[in-house]
Amino acid sequence: MTDAVLVINSGSSSIKFALYPMSSGGEIPLIRGKVSGIGRAPDFVAFDAAGAALDETALQNLDGDAGHGELVQGLLDWLASEHSGLNVVAVGHRVVHGGQVFDGPVVITSETFKQMEDLTPLAPLHQPHNLAAVTAISKRASDIVQVACFDTSFHRTQPRLAQLFGLPHKLSDAGIIRYGFHGLSYEYIAGVLTDLPGCKAEGRVIVAHLGNGASICAMKNRQSVATSMGFTALHGLMMGRRSGTLDAGAVLHLVQQLGMSVDEVHHLLYRESGLLGVSGISNNMRELQESPDPRAAEAIDLFCYKAALEFASHAAAMEGLDSIVFTAGIGENSAMVRQKICRQLSWLGIEIDETANAEHAKTISAGGSRISVHVVATNEELVIANATRALAS
Ligand code: AMP
Repeated sequence: MTDAVLVINSGSSSIKFALYPMSSGGEIPLIRGKVSGIGRAPDFVAFDAAGAALDETALQNLDGDAGHGELVQGLLDWLASEHSGLNVVAVGHRVVHGGQVFDGPVVITSETFKQMEDLTPLAPLHQPHNLAAVTAISKRASDIVQVACFDTSFHRTQPRLAQLFGLPHKLSDAGIIRYGFHGLSYEYIAGVLTDLPGCKAEGRVIVAHLGNGASICAMKNRQSVATSMGFTALHGLMMGRRSGTLDAGAVLHLVQQLGMSVDEVHHLLYRESGLLGVSGISNNMRELQESPDPRAAEAIDLFCYKAALEFASHAAAMEGLDSIVFTAGIGENSAMVRQKICRQLSWLGIEIDETANAEHAKTISAGGSRISVHVVATNEELVIANATRALAS
């Protein structure tokens, strides 16, 4: 029997999972996979440590209405029957919101579970799914240690000024502040900065997590001092489907003058805007890059322009900039996006080595660049696995 840590990352319509050996140091998952299409037709894929596909029919008997809890139960059944050599002794969960309460991972007890439940109004689309997975596991095996790792915790080091909006203080006191997200990704990158040739790990670094969701984080000495997402994950950079920062007056206009309902505005800002809305073609950066349509080019240009403005404002928050790191789907794979953002920031003394950029090298800045620029693959699951190992033992 091999003792294992199960990592669960429950999104609104998917559950990603990975199993790591419980012994510390194991960085490659023994098994990883995903259930997607939750609420419609759940689709299951899983891979072993070598990347070979495992039994994809495992969860096929679950009907389309199966919720997150039932699917997690199905996943545990599959592991018990098909991988009985693995003994799951601890489970680590990605939990989207830790509010002002949680500044690091915690063991889930009835008390911490209640505190997480109380934060649901801050993340109504995600927190219930995260907690449904916790409940499903404790129903099945109450002796398994469960650990919550929060997307917001990494940003609890932000100074007060970086957290405040220009709103009456009683609203700030009531929790309407900038929390920031993607914290597990930033924590992973903060941990590998010293491995990057030329990176000033202890200096002023901007990490850009550019995926379907996109944000940046300004780090001083590897701690968050400012971040682009805010009270919600709608704020900051333009994203695949999300608008990013928008004049709040425009939102009022949509409701008061155009007669849109709150639900319609919500759908517009979270699902129909961003790269998809601007291009009218796709939310997918790779598809836009391959499209000859000028609207695709305009959407990419707007994405990069807005990102560069955020970089500059975060450099101001740190009163300077030493290094930049690109990560996540777009940051790791799109040489075009990196090049456009860096070109807009060339006045800061950034110069890219085009060959290194095209090859997605670890360091893509040219020799004479005042600011070093890097590309790193993020690994949120490993951060959760390590935190779970530490707290469970
Ligand atoms: P993520 O949310 O981190 O999985 O990132 C998804 C985004 O990464 C999508 O917009 C993809 O189109 C984009 N992406 C992935 N691979 C590439 C690529 N080779 N070139 C451009 N964009 C890519």
